[in-house]
Amino acid sequence: MTIYHISAECFPVAKVGGLADVVGALPKYQNNLGHQSCVIMPFYDNKFTQNNTFESVFTATFLLGNEKVNFRVFKLKNKSLDFNIFLVDIPELLFTNNIYSNDDTNRFIAFQIAVLQWISQMEVLPDIIHCHDHHVGLMPFMMSHADQFKSLKRVPSVFTIHNAQYQGQFSHSKENLIPEFDKNLTGLLDWDEQINPLATAIKCAWRVTTVSPSYMNELMYNAKGLESLLSSERNKCIGILNGIDDVVWNPKTDGFLIKNYSKKTVISGKKANKQWLCKTFGLDEKLPLYIFIGRLVYEKGADLLSEIFDISLQDTQKSILLLGSGDQKVERGFEQLKEKYAGYFNAFIGYDERLSHIMYAGGDFLLMPSRIEPCGLNQMYSLRYGTIPIVHKVGGLKDTVTDINDHGFGFCHEGVSAIEVSKAISRANAFYARVEDFRKTLKRIMDIDHSWQYSAKQYIRLYNELIKLK
Ligand code: ADP
Repeated sequence: MTIYHISAECFPVAKVGGLADVVGALPKYQNNLGHQSCVIMPFYDNKFTQNNTFESVFTATFLLGNEKVNFRVFKLKNKSLDFNIFLVDIPELLFTNNIYSNDDTNRFIAFQIAVLQWISQMEVLPDIIHCHDHHVGLMPFMMSHADQFKSLKRVPSVFTIHNAQYQGQFSHSKENLIPEFDKNLTGLLDWDEQINPLATAIKCAWRVTTVSPSYMNELMYNAKGLESLLSSERNKCIGILNGIDDVVWNPKTDGFLIKNYSKKTVISGKKANKQWLCKTFGLDEKLPLYIFIGRLVYEKGADLLSEIFDISLQDTQKSILLLGSGDQKVERGFEQLKEKYAGYFNAFIGYDERLSHIMYAGGDFLLMPSRIEPCGLNQMYSLRYGTIPIVHKVGGLKDTVTDINDHGFGFCHEGVSAIEVSKAISRANAFYARVEDFRKTLKRIMDIDHSWQYSAKQYIRLYNELIKLK
């Protein structure tokens, strides 16, 4: 079957977080299963687009409100990605250095119209249009109800919620940007007197998925205002656990690492990566190294990190290294901690793909005190690299990490207070001292298969059900 994934992010073209990793991996695994899966995303101004060549495959014009917008669709020329990727070029709206900005409503409505305009005139339509997150949440509505996209009415749409905290709401005063539709259907766009693309997608997509089964259950009572909507649409919702790209994320071949390693050589391999990290960030390599990688936002428990680190570092029996950016107050807090715990704590504020790989490899424990975690990829990467996760039992973390006391391999805490997280860290530190058990566990977790193999098949099964309904 032919599947079109539509997304604002896709690794390695443009990435802010897990959305990019998922959209950059799932199509690859679907193609391995014998399907034709591709990605359509905006043409941004970044390193990837500067360093690659593209061919133009479609040119047209549409109306965004009263304004005429010209666009082109480019296809990546080389085959480096294992799936076809198409970039929609609307220079005045999408060709920016940052993926997201202040006028995202206009930018992403324009993107969605351009995508549909291109697809709707194709001689052979795709079997499935799979939309990811609120940036493309109006597509299922437009496919079913916009006059100009009539040809797409019977093409099944799947919508995946990667994060329900972000819904893309905007005022009804911008309703005119959406192509002509029967105004009796305005209610489908509305949630709480605003146009809410995430809510619209939940109402209009043929099926709604989230990125882990536990997150789907949690959304029924914690979905930033959409709980009742999700409950009423529950029959078409399903949680499918994300996988990881086990080709990109493979310690044996990962080109970013200081030293590659397998399960057999994990001790020396991790040591070399840890030595580099400790040397680079002025930490003591003899102590267990705890890492945190992620967006510094409330959902990830970022506001608690300084307190957690402050409690945990008092015994000078461990080091902590953080990679991330976000809330500036949180970032400033780390500057103080760097001084107070020089030699035990360091933080790299920013985004650095290479450093993240070396940290997964060189860390001993990964911290994820997330308040909300739709799936979480970090814990799956860390397992593959032999780094033990310490996680809050929530969402996808609950589905992928079992506590060592329950015959598992990680450290789970029930709540996210600084005290609870610090207690889990103390348990982990005691475990580190049990050298044999610690080493056995590293090897054991490297064997856990979280690749897309299984979940890619689940999506295909779901698509097949929808194709039968056509
Ligand atoms: P989310 O999508 O909510 O941010 P996920 O766990 O699903 O969280 O995915 C996060 C992805 O982003 C992982 O690949 C992680 O390694 C990466 N990442 C997050 N912050 C950074 C950073 N500062 N530098 C490099 N990679 C990062």
